[in-house]
Amino acid sequence: ATPTALLVGTGRGAQLGILIKGPQVLESTRRVDTVVLDKTGTLTTGAMTLQDVVPDDGVARADLLRLAGALEHASEHPVARAVAAGAAQEVGTLPAPESFESVQGVGVRGLVDGYAVVAGRESLLGDQPLPAALARAKARAEVEGRTVVVVGWDGRARGLLVVSDTVRPTSAAAVSRLRALGLHPVLLTGDNRAVAQQVADAVGINQVVAEVLPQDKAEVVARLQAQGKVVAMVGDGVNDAPALAQADLGLAMGTGTDVAIEAADITLVRGDVEAVVDAIRLARRTLGTIK
Ligand code: ADP
Ligand code: MG
Repeated sequence: ATPTALLVGTGRGAQLGILIKGPQVLESTRRVDTVVLDKTGTLTTGAMTLQDVVPDDGVARADLLRLAGALEHASEHPVARAVAAGAAQEVGTLPAPESFESVQGVGVRGLVDGYAVVAGRESLLGDQPLPAALARAKARAEVEGRTVVVVGWDGRARGLLVVSDTVRPTSAAAVSRLRALGLHPVLLTGDNRAVAQQVADAVGINQVVAEVLPQDKAEVVARLQAQGKVVAMVGDGVNDAPALAQADLGLAMGTGTDVAIEAADITLVRGDVEAVVDAIRLARRTLGTIK
């Protein structure tokens, strides 16, 4: 394509809310055949709410909310925001943690009111199994597509906080339009398998890669590339940045973090997966008509 055509293409993109980093990006956009989509904040709104509180036997609901809420208040993860907001609403002001550490893609840990507290994935508790009642409640919530935060202190599980997210109303139509363009969609998430499957079913994606740690997301993209795929990655989080950089084409949700936007080739201003479809059609039109 002529430089003019490329400029017209990127200009048209800007009008559509598709910010393209440079004219050369259109060429990689056109070649894409596989679209990897992050779940939280990409296919879903990422605006989560605390749905349910499940204390273990002998644990006060208010203690569970206060200790977990205090830690999560220090984290910016969408799950953490939901927990902190829900906890503050019910128990009021949350104590400031004496120490705090965020474990990317896993959860948080720290010292609150003298207790060593963890909140996040079950793995934070080591290999000790959850008490049977909590394990049952967790499985029930996950088949419904809810994300479960396991809370423990002083080395034992103390309860669950169940958080729910909403699939963006446009995600299913966007996935079906991607397919109509001959593209293969893949869902990639750090979240639990059952939750991932629920969202995949809701939007019509067959290939699901779940429980992927942030540092391994780029690896999943590289594996697809090794199979000869030309991969677009769509994400919003800090944890998506390496995968966005690894992909042949990185697309960041405009509603996402700065780190993701910096790592991407394209920013989707509206934060809507439908814009991925628009970007690919734009690239094909720009480069297809004028060679
Ligand atoms: P995704 O790939 O869907 O954007 P992440 O990799 O950020 O998700 O997180 C994976 C999972 O780790 C979350 O679904 C959640 O279960 C857990 N997690 C991560 N951070 C936190 C946190 N601050 N508090 C509780 N759970 C967390
Ligand atoms: Mg995300």
